[in-house]
Amino acid sequence: MTVPRILITAGPTHEAIDSVRFIGNRSSGRMGVALARAAAERGWAVTLLLGPATVDPAEAGPGVRVERFVSCADLQGLLTALWPSGAEVLVMAAAVADYRPVRAAKAGTKLRRSGERLVLELESTPDLVEECCRRKPSGSLVVGFALEPATGLREAAIRKLTRKGLDGIVANPLETMDSATAEGELIWGDGSSERLGGGGGATSKVEFARALMERIAGRLAG
Ligand code: C5P
Repeated sequence: MTVPRILITAGPTHEAIDSVRFIGNRSSGRMGVALARAAAERGWAVTLLLGPATVDPAEAGPGVRVERFVSCADLQGLLTALWPSGAEVLVMAAAVADYRPVRAAKAGTKLRRSGERLVLELESTPDLVEECCRRKPSGSLVVGFALEPATGLREAAIRKLTRKGLDGIVANPLETMDSATAEGELIWGDGSSERLGGGGGATSKVEFARALMERIAGRLAG
């Protein structure tokens, strides 16, 4: 059997306000890097698209191809080039900005303090994983993440799964962000679901990633 190829996105995006400031989020990239490591441990061909994260991409281990992005637009360009031609599985663990400044100040400039109120105009970003699902060949798999407050988490994740056209989604609570541990439920489009990680509580992101990769491997084989 040929070696599965997997594309994993990880980390935050930074959306420029001017040359030194940005709108970002607290994603560390740890979950995506752990997923890359778990997939490489299975002998898969792994490409990791990593944002401006605090985690060291070397933690993914040897043999993982790493491409860096900064903004949602950068990531969109990489995904256009690599999905679906470069992989059969896409796992979107990146915390992509939902909004970005309509106008970033020209490169090489910095907004000055004026004492006046400053209003930033934001536009919504394209939903990258939804775009990827639209061009997904049959037999391929796309898995996303839903990071939501614990109350209503499952319902929100199922709505995202359907709206975006995902094969599966990992529903995890807000506390997972920027943490060394993870807990969550994997929900598939066919309605089946299970909690991942030891005994239903929080487990290390590396262990969580191994469990998720095992389930993805099972789906590919099936
Ligand atoms: O809609 P929400 O951001 O909560 O959905 C989370 C999922 O969607 C994640 O898998 C994330 O990588 C993906 N996403 C995306 N493009 C965006 C926002 C989120 O692909 N602009």
